[in-house]
Amino acid sequence: MAIEQTAVSYYGIGYVEHNRQDFKEIKAHGCTTVILAITEFDFDFWFPSIDKIIEAAHQEGLKVLLDPWGIGKYFGGEQVSLFLQNNIHSRQVSAFTGEPLNAACFNTNSFRDYFQRMVLKLARETHADGFFWDEPHYALPKSYASITGGVGDDWACRCPVCQKKFMDYYGYEMPKIMNDDVRQFRWREAMFILEDTSRKIKEINPDYEITMCVHATLNSYYVTEQRGYDDWDRVASCPYFDVFSTTIINWSLPRSFFESITKRTVEMAKKYGKKSERWIMNYNARPERMEQMDEVISLYEQLGVDRLAAWTYRGGYGTVVAAPNALEMWDRLGENYRKVRK
Ligand SMILES: [Zn+2]
Repeated sequence: MAIEQTAVSYYGIGYVEHNRQDFKEIKAHGCTTVILAITEFDFDFWFPSIDKIIEAAHQEGLKVLLDPWGIGKYFGGEQVSLFLQNNIHSRQVSAFTGEPLNAACFNTNSFRDYFQRMVLKLARETHADGFFWDEPHYALPKSYASITGGVGDDWACRCPVCQKKFMDYYGYEMPKIMNDDVRQFRWREAMFILEDTSRKIKEINPDYEITMCVHATLNSYYVTEQRGYDDWDRVASCPYFDVFSTTIINWSLPRSFFESITKRTVEMAKKYGKKSERWIMNYNARPERMEQMDEVISLYEQLGVDRLAAWTYRGGYGTVVAAPNALEMWDRLGENYRKVRK
């Protein structure tokens, strides 16, 4: 079993000369690929630099994937959202309380157009190798398997747009208690924005590669995350996605969980002829024993994962979500990446 791609995410859109130095360091850490986390501010403010940064990464021998990081708080990520700042409508709404949430509703034409305009401009005007859909999700609920919090019975989205779409399709008012129709509705609508955008990206350039990264949850008969992308068959069978990826899990979870997520990821990818990818936590927390990182990466390799990716460059050094001993984590990741690439 060979790992064909080792990626790391990178936040530092800005001065290309500085980025080039970082790319040299990334390359020296055994990475084949850099995932550029592009925020709404980067896109809005730094756009003239983005293609130059991509070119610099290419010159240093790295493949470049663009991650519309945290856009509208629809995708995962700590960034702030200009969409939420500039729009008082088109937000997700709590089913139980009717209150607007701090997340864009991706079933509204307003957010769909905003997101698509941004991504298609990147597809047309830069020379990246592909796009990375990073933990897209409804704001509520989430399960205990998530690194970002606990489960509740309340759910989103029950905004006026979702309610009208539901009524038009099913012929009755959208209920406040989640039922099977609501689940189907949420899955179907959640897929639309990414399918439609991915198809249009491939129309611009069929060589663009699309990675779809969903939350790594138990996803069992009894427990699912209900964040819109937990029907993995529906996600992995999308013809416009090339890679089926499942996200980071916390180091403190048992090895059996790492094993089960990884087996299911590889099986699902194979079932639909996609590449599989597993993520490694290289920020926020460190394993109790550093050897655990070596063991998990070796487990991924043994289970037949095609690609590895880690969040983030330098273990998040200098940020509030840095791993303890962030640079040590980064170096350990580099050792592992160099080993699996041999
Ligand atoms: Zn909605």
